[in-house]
Amino acid sequence: MSGVDDAAESCLACALTAGTVPLPGGQVLRDDRWVVEHCVGPLGLGTFVVKPLRHVLHVAELTAREAAELGPLLRRVSAAVTEATAPEQVYVCLWSHSGGVPGHIHFVVQPVDRETMARFNASGPEL
Ligand SMILES: [Zn+2]
Repeated sequence: MSGVDDAAESCLACALTAGTVPLPGGQVLRDDRWVVEHCVGPLGLGTFVVKPLRHVLHVAELTAREAAELGPLLRRVSAAVTEATAPEQVYVCLWSHSGGVPGHIHFVVQPVDRETMARFNASGPEL
């Protein structure tokens, strides 16, 4: 078994997709290369994760096809979040460190409204 396979076996992102770790809300979209899931953790209701099905650690490692699909998929998920929650802004950012080392890349699509900013007295990265 290769190092990548070993890393994938201990990867939370892969485990959530495989269903070996509970995923509240489940998957909302999945094709041969990408999956969109409800976000686990404290980022709030309506936050989604967009990630490649493959255990990819760097954006530069995406295939040409994955890269071509990424922008339209992020736009589509952001549009759905906007339609459902009418936020002031939708943050889209890449998270990819786990235990201080590069992890399975995943783009967090997070709606943000005035109430949330006021509640935490924050916006941007602090939020
Ligand atoms: Zn993974």
